Amino acid sequence: MFIAANWKMNLDKVSISKFCDDLYNYKFSSKVEACIFPSLPYMDYLNNLIKKLPISVGGQNCHYKSHGAFTGEVSPKFLRDTGCEYVIIGHSERRSINNESDNEIKLRAQSAIDTNLKVILCVGENLSHREKGYALKFVEQQLLKCLPNDFKNLLVAYEPVWSIGTGKIPNVSEINEMHDHIKKVVLKNTNKKVKVLYGGSVNVENIDSILNVINVDGVLVGGASLKVKDFLAIYSAAVKHLNNSI
Ligand code: PEP
Repeated sequence: MFIAANWKMNLDKVSISKFCDDLYNYKFSSKVEACIFPSLPYMDYLNNLIKKLPISVGGQNCHYKSHGAFTGEVSPKFLRDTGCEYVIIGHSERRSINNESDNEIKLRAQSAIDTNLKVILCVGENLSHREKGYALKFVEQQLLKCLPNDFKNLLVAYEPVWSIGTGKIPNVSEINEMHDHIKKVVLKNTNKKVKVLYGGSVNVENIDSILNVINVDGVLVGGASLKVKDFLAIYSAAVKHLNNSI
């Protein structure tokens, strides 16, 4: 079970310090893995604050080149050097705001993997695909265009674009159907098994029903991960879910 906290461009140094104070009073479980994706300048700062805790840090994106004239970009090698274990690739905000294409996302994912980062590859349909009944087909095609050629461990995050930051989520059978489809598509095309996280308006109220979906291997949480109380409540729900399913 995996909990990814995507802080996006939020939480400054003072807020991060307060967030981490509360983490030290919490008893983490070895069964649930957690990774926080802070804003880039605070990577080292956060890493130092949580180094005694079983939480890793990750990058919100990386370039496909390791060095060069790419102003404003970050090298996968530099993420590795600052202690990152994971990187998110292909987030819908990168696709829409920064015009990252499927092909570029594939290159970024491959480069991150070659640099020994674990990749969380994001895919998801927009509302009109869902309403017209094309969601499965769209995500399949997007996935096939973005999948790196060679990987050992890959996490896929299913994040319907219409669900991110809106408070709307697909129903549990739609989530299950999509996760099952993603796993089958990857297995058929690469002979590899992937874990699939659900992302999009996950919060303290809906976490239990999402974790009860059979094909959900964890969650990618944006807004609700900014408050330590909610982050820990979501983490605790994952521990409880695992304990109940033994
Ligand atoms: C995200 O941006 O990856 C995300 C899931 O955001 P939110 O939880 O705020 O919808």
